[in-house]
This record gives sequence, C-alpha cells and structure tokens, in this order.
Amino acid sequence: MNRRPLCFGRLLLVVLLGTWSLPLTGQPLSGPAAPAPTSAPANEPQSPTYRPDSLYPLDGLLAERQAALNFDPLTGIGQLLSGGDLIRFKLGEGLFLFGGSLISWLEPVRWVDGRLQAPGATLQAMGEWFALRRAERTALTSVAVILIDPGHGGRDPGAVGLFGSGSAAWQAREKDITLAIALELYRQLTQLWPDKTILITRTGDTFPSLEDRVSMANGLELGVNEAIIYISIHANASFNARANGFEVWYLNPEYRRTVLDDSKTEGHSQDVLPILNTMLEEEYTTESIFLARAIQDGLSAQVGGQTSNRGVRAEEWFVVRNARMPSVLVEVGFVTNEAEAQRLSTEAYLQKLTKGIYNGVVSFVDYFEQRRTPSTP
Ligand SMILES: [Zn+2]
Repeated sequence: MNRRPLCFGRLLLVVLLGTWSLPLTGQPLSGPAAPAPTSAPANEPQSPTYRPDSLYPLDGLLAERQAALNFDPLTGIGQLLSGGDLIRFKLGEGLFLFGGSLISWLEPVRWVDGRLQAPGATLQAMGEWFALRRAERTALTSVAVILIDPGHGGRDPGAVGLFGSGSAAWQAREKDITLAIALELYRQLTQLWPDKTILITRTGDTFPSLEDRVSMANGLELGVNEAIIYISIHANASFNARANGFEVWYLNPEYRRTVLDDSKTEGHSQDVLPILNTMLEEEYTTESIFLARAIQDGLSAQVGGQTSNRGVRAEEWFVVRNARMPSVLVEVGFVTNEAEAQRLSTEAYLQKLTKGIYNGVVSFVDYFEQRRTPSTP
C-alpha cells in the first residue's frame, strides 16, 4: 500500500470533516464504507484504517504512535504523548490542542463502555499530526533563545546586606551579584552556542522594568520548532541572619495565567480560552520544573558543600508568571548572612555559581533537544 504524504492540508480537511459531521451514528455518513480496522504488517509501520464516524478505543492510536495516555477523570483533560509531542483534549469537547499552539476542532473523545473512545476521523487526525511532528522534530527542535535576566539594577539595588561599622563597613548588593553572574553566564553560553540567540536584559547598572524584561522575551518571533527559556537571577534576604543557601523557583502550577494570545483563538468562542490555557500551562510548568531541577543540581554540584541546598520551589513570581515560556528564578544566596555575603563578594564563588547555572542550562537544553534521553535505560 502506498503511504500517503503527510501535510497540513490533509489535517485541515480532516478537521473540517470533524467539525461538520453529524452526531455519531456508528455508520459512515456517505460514500463506500472503509474496510474495518486491520493490524499492520509485521515490519512496516502503517496506520490503521478507521471509519471516520465510527467510535474506536484509543488503543490503536497508542500502539501505532507508541504514545502514552494520561487522563485525569476529575478535570476531564487527557494528554497523548508520543516522542515528546503532546496532544491535549477535554472529554466531550471538540477542542484539541496540538503541541503548544495548533488548535483544532474535531469530534470529541468520549467515555463509552468504560473506556475512552474517539471517532475514526479524530484518531486519524491525531495519528497524522504525530507522524508529521516526528518528521519535523528529528531535524529541527531546538532551544533557539535563552534570555538571562539579572534582577534589579540602577535605582533598585534589590536586597542589601550591611556589615561592620565605621571604616570597616561594607555591603553586599543584590543588583551587583546578579549582574556579575548574568554577564559571565551570558559570555559562556554565547561561546558554547554561537548559533543560539543569547539575550540579557541589562549589561550595566540600569533598571529595566519588569514589563520590559518579560516583553523582551514575549516579543520574539520563533520558528515552529524553536523554544525560548527564561532565567531570572536574584539574591535573597532574610531577617534571620543565619539563613543561607540557594534555591530555584518555578511557577506554581495552581496559578492560572493567560499564556495564549486571544489572537490565536480568533473566530472561536471565548469559552475555550480557560481550557486552552490550562492545557498549555501544564506544558510550560513541566518544562520549567525540569529546568529548575537541572539548575538546582548544577548549583548543588558546585557549591553544595559550602552552603545550604534549599531545593526547588514553586511560587507566583511576577517575572515568571508573565513569561510565556519555560521560566525559572534562581536565588543564588543570602546577602543578609555575613559569611554568605562574603562568599558572594568573591570572584571565585560567583564563578562557581555561574558554572552551576551554566551546567544546569546545558543539561536541560541537551535533554530538550533530545541529544540525550535520560529516561532511556
Ligand atoms: Zn531580587
């Protein structure tokens, strides 16, 4: 059997069929009946043939695309994951989210006879999209942009630790520490990846607003398979002078943010926006957690013997929650702890912190671009 070329034209056709088809009857609407589903020949990957309007369990699609199904009965949201590509759907809803941005209307997945089932046209569209993505991804997926954001600056010093008195008085300022680390991280990443766009929100003692920092990233035009990651660097302060250590924050998954532009849903009901945002948010959150863990591990390897590893944390940071991309905020240490403030004032310690963040970013990007697959035994 000839294999059909895969293209979006076909996908869109299927989408339209799905949109306009009549309520499910178990029978094709018109034309000759397609043959019943058959199993693929032993060594040639081949899509099952579906009747567009008949209901089938998702098993055939899962086997065909080696996909995993994750379904949450409480929210009714399901995810199909195949080789890093994700399709999200909601039970009984015609709205499907393919990857991060492609919205399609298909006949919905339903709960029938104690299991998830979908019409043949829906399964076919999903199977073809997975195949297309696989073909594209093989060559192209990359982290194209890394945005480094040294916290504070200019009139905003951030946290300040004041120590000693008289002629022995000295201080450690967050804005200086974050800039030193960010500039060195920028230099090292630019050297490692001349083909990637490495951006930094400030290179001197200036104060870009929080909106400026985030819009710098959100305004970038990216290719279909290009991603951007956002790393905000800060130092900590506490009334407890003994508090010390580093931690990495990512967005609290319970925070509901608007990650999708209204423009992408033109012509569709506003009702779907919350559903889409919930779906998309989960992807960013998952990637942000991976990135946070990678940086935390990197820091732990460099300075874990000298200060506390305070772990990976979730919070609703402004800079993070407005970024439509995997984003983390790194707290490198406490300027209010005298011993830590002294460390943070030495070139050698800042180099170690930079190396830790750098190693974390490199391992995340390697994972993301699938040069390594940690999940493979
Ligand atoms: Zn800060």
